[in-house]
Amino acid sequence: MARYRDAKCRLCRREGMKLFLKGARCFTDKCAIERRNYPPGQHGLNRGKLTPFGVQLREKQKAKRIYGVLEKQFRRYFEWAEREKGATGENLLKLLELRLDNVVHRLGFAASRRESRQMVAHGHFQVNGRKVTVPSYLVKMGDVVELRPTSKHAARVDDNLNAGRGQVPQWLEVQPDGRRGVVRSEPLREDIQIPVSEQLIVELYSK
Ligand code: SF4
Repeated sequence: MARYRDAKCRLCRREGMKLFLKGARCFTDKCAIERRNYPPGQHGLNRGKLTPFGVQLREKQKAKRIYGVLEKQFRRYFEWAEREKGATGENLLKLLELRLDNVVHRLGFAASRRESRQMVAHGHFQVNGRKVTVPSYLVKMGDVVELRPTSKHAARVDDNLNAGRGQVPQWLEVQPDGRRGVVRSEPLREDIQIPVSEQLIVELYSK
C-alpha cells in the first residue's frame, strides 16, 4: 500500500490553499498556509504564470493530494470512471468519495483522511460486521461502517466527533450511538465539496 510520506504542508503550499491534510493543526495558526503562503522550494516565490497544461496538472495533483492517492491508482480510478455511464469527471470524484478512508473521515470519526487511513489499515473499522483493513475499499449504498467493538480508539473517535470540524454530507448518516455510520446513497456532485474542477482533470488525461 504505497502512500506519500514526505511533508504534508508542502503539498498545500504547492497548491496555494489549505487541503486539510493534518487534522486539528490545519485549524490553528501553525498551519503553513497561514505562515508561508507561497510555493515551497528555492524558487517558490519566483514561479511564473501557469500554462493551460499547468492549470490542468495542478487540478489533478490537488485531487490526488486531497484523497491521498498516488498517480497509478488515480489513473486507474480515471479509467474506471471513463467506463461508467455519465460524466467522467463526476464519476471520478464519486469513486474517490466512496473510498472507505474518505467515508470514515466524512462521518467525522477521524480528523483527516490520513488519520482515517491509518485507523482503517490498523483494523479499527468494520463494514457490515466484517473487519476491513483496506483504505481504498469502496462502500456501497446501505453499507454500515462502524468502529469495531474491540477498538481502543473509541475515545479518539469521540473527540473527533465532538470537535465537529466538518458537516456530515447528506449521503451519509451517523447513528445516534456515534460509533456507526450508514451510506444512505451515492454522493451527488453537489455533495462533494472539494475545490477541484474535475473537467480540467478529464481534459488533462484526454490529451
Ligand atoms: Fe495544509 Fe493542514 Fe499543513 Fe495547513 S496545517 S498547510 S492545511 S496540511
